[in-house]
Amino acid sequence: MMPLRRFTIHQPKDTAEASEMLAQFGEKARLYAGGTELLLAMKHDLLRYEHLVDVKTVPGLDRIEAKDSVLLIGSAVTHRVIERSALVKEKLPVLSEMETKVANIRVRATGTLGGNLCFAEPHSDPATLLLALDAKAQIHGKSGQKTVAIDKLITGAYETSLSTDEILTAVEIPVLSKSQRAAYVKFQTHERPTLGLALVLDIDDAGHQIRKARAVVGSVSAIPSRSDKTDAALVGRRSQVERQLNDAAAALADTADPVDDLQGSADYKRHLIGVFLKRAFVKALAHT
Ligand SMILES: Cc1cc2nc3c(=O)[nH]c(=O)nc-3n(C[C@H](O)[C@H](O)[C@H](O)COP(=O)(O)OP(=O)(O)OC[C@H]3O[C@@H](n4cnc5c(N)ncnc54)[C@H](O)[C@@H]3O)c2cc1C
Repeated sequence: MMPLRRFTIHQPKDTAEASEMLAQFGEKARLYAGGTELLLAMKHDLLRYEHLVDVKTVPGLDRIEAKDSVLLIGSAVTHRVIERSALVKEKLPVLSEMETKVANIRVRATGTLGGNLCFAEPHSDPATLLLALDAKAQIHGKSGQKTVAIDKLITGAYETSLSTDEILTAVEIPVLSKSQRAAYVKFQTHERPTLGLALVLDIDDAGHQIRKARAVVGSVSAIPSRSDKTDAALVGRRSQVERQLNDAAAALADTADPVDDLQGSADYKRHLIGVFLKRAFVKALAHT
């Protein structure tokens, strides 16, 4: 590993000043949160920045709030804080459970939700679950605020739609309604997940009829994927949907188009999608 090149850390007092700094320094600057990805890449000399703009000093980016039917999580909140939050456990247990399995405790204690999403590393657990939950990213830039869907934020491997002066400030996650059930399952043998699969189902009171479904698979290719064909195959009488799970998984695998990488071959990942869709289905409906 190379010694770190010299850089200056800036501590803006608010998001407006952070955006100003990013615009002023341009390509020479990068936002910095926990540094678990950024500093490692800089130590390996894969990325070089002269200025790091610290988002952790910006007031408000560390908040977790519930408003109406939405959970709002600031971008500088660490995985560990989300995992332990009583509010998250109450409002969205599937999110706290997912967070317990991100990386290891050292990374979770320092790494933030915003850093995870904005680094856009393809093996992201939060990106997969948040897409299934239909979460939105709140973004602040010099031209003002905007809100975009997660799949409009993460556009490719290590690529986001953020422009130089923009900051992810928070993530808005709709809490589940009484008729919704969700599950997140993952498979991991190395440092990063081989596969993560999130499933959200809307069911009738008796638990016999699935009215709506949203399945997302992540980590198997550049970005998390969903398929209308899969979601349609997951709708109907529960017994009928159970018979359609192989077809639903095949359609999801076709859309995701898994890649060979250090976590496994494309064929192996296609197989895992079938296994883990079934596991997610059973888990989501376990308490109905
Ligand atoms: C050993 C190891 C194992 C891991 N395992 C997993 C795993 O199992 N599952 C998983 O999902 N992840 C895993 N990760 C990834 C981990 O979740 C991320 O490293 C962490 O969340 C990044 O957050 P950070 O605050 O450290 O980001 P930083 O390193 O500070 O920043 C990362 C990038 O995001 C940008 N950024 C940060 N905050 C913002 C913001 N608010 N707005 C705009 N851009 C921003 C930075 O400019 C930088 O480009 C692992 C990482 C490591 C090192």
